[in-house]
Amino acid sequence: MSKHVSLPSVDRLLRADPLIALIEAHGRQPTTNAVRAVLAGMREGLANAEGDTAAASEADIAALVSDRLVRAEAPSLKRVFNLTGTVLHTNLGRAPLAVEAITAMTEAARGASNLEFDLASGRRGDRDSHVEELICALTGAEAATVVNNNAAAVMLVLNTLARRKEVPVSRGELIEIGGAFRIPDIMSRSGCRLVEVGTTNRTHPADFENAIGDRTALLMAVHTSNYSVEGFTSAVPEATLAELAHAKDIPFVVDLGSGTLVDLERYGLPHEQTPRDSISAGADLVTFSGDKLLGGPQAGLIVGRADLIAKLKKNPLKRAMRCDKMTIAALAATLRLYDDPDRLAERLPTLHLLTRPVAELQALAERLTPALAQRLGEGFTVATAPTRGQIGSGALPVESLDSFALTLTPAAKRGRGSALKRLTAGLRTLPVPVIGRVHEDALWLDLRCLDDEVEFVAQLSELSVS
Ligand SMILES: *Cc1c(COP(=O)(O)O)cnc(C)c1O
Repeated sequence: MSKHVSLPSVDRLLRADPLIALIEAHGRQPTTNAVRAVLAGMREGLANAEGDTAAASEADIAALVSDRLVRAEAPSLKRVFNLTGTVLHTNLGRAPLAVEAITAMTEAARGASNLEFDLASGRRGDRDSHVEELICALTGAEAATVVNNNAAAVMLVLNTLARRKEVPVSRGELIEIGGAFRIPDIMSRSGCRLVEVGTTNRTHPADFENAIGDRTALLMAVHTSNYSVEGFTSAVPEATLAELAHAKDIPFVVDLGSGTLVDLERYGLPHEQTPRDSISAGADLVTFSGDKLLGGPQAGLIVGRADLIAKLKKNPLKRAMRCDKMTIAALAATLRLYDDPDRLAERLPTLHLLTRPVAELQALAERLTPALAQRLGEGFTVATAPTRGQIGSGALPVESLDSFALTLTPAAKRGRGSALKRLTAGLRTLPVPVIGRVHEDALWLDLRCLDDEVEFVAQLSELSVS
């Protein structure tokens, strides 16, 4: 038997004191909508309820309305703690920006700017002008342009220089980057025909020579970002591809993917090819991402020969792929940090994270262990362990970064899978969600990217694992 409880009307509720306070804080329309939704939910609950249902007071209803309003106002896109061990994690937004870049973005967002206005002459300007010189200085290129991301950069190059023509690419480089960037698909969408050359593990200069014909628009090398072919392998060096292309009077293009602007060895990291390396090897155009190792906003940078860059800028697709003012502002500020390589690892968050010493991460892990162990209680064993993370976003896939992690292992062998599920779900619902990695019966929290220890600990009191 369900007992009938009459609920107050929407109008009466909106005149009650607790609701008036909510209207002041959240606005009349959102509060009214929330009251309606809460009442509808309660009515449904009452209809289904077996036995007695306590009468709902105005204060009870106001509490439910308040919860609903707070949840509705929370942004969908929020900060998380990336403890996955992958520093440049595409699903978690890749490179964190430098303070200088964030300030520049905010300034650009605030109001009008000289985005496409030449203050010297008073004439129309070019948005690339705010970054072109900086990019050229850092890459040794004659000219540069910027688009929405590197996938767009590759499409723009192919569509401008190779539409209705052929582009030979080594079979060893027909890559898929996560998120549906596949070289063969990008080729066909750009309007050009891919000519597969060589084999998966070995491609020789003669393979390219045989593939080049009257319809060949350009030669292209693709940095095999996210995998490596090992063993009996052979690839044609960029310098050789450049020679072959130039002998036929066609451009040589390199899709570099990550493209760091400095020699990473200087910072104790493994070497990663730079745009300058490709240009020195004879590349006519090089494309790379702004939010990978470069450590800036999402963007696709194209550098190289001035005549080819000018052609790209005339393609209407450039207009469709252009960067907004916030990106230009953040990119320019990020590039300026490179002027001072001595302080780059302090100022560029990506490089800072990549170069954090393992001893520091180990000490952090040891400091955090008691707080986590206390919060998780008997159900989990908390320990520290050395681990290996990765740069991510395709840079140096095989090299891994020595790091340190907290491992959270369910104490009971039975029901381990579901205990881990509850734990990862609980961590995801924290105010700043914590994202780790499940590996061999434990949740691993790689601490390389934990940048706010105090906040991490403070919110643990809200963790519930049930
Ligand atoms: C990452 C990558 C891309 C795609 O770059 P986005 O900036 O993500 O669009 C293309 N090519 C290579 C080789 C890459 O590594």
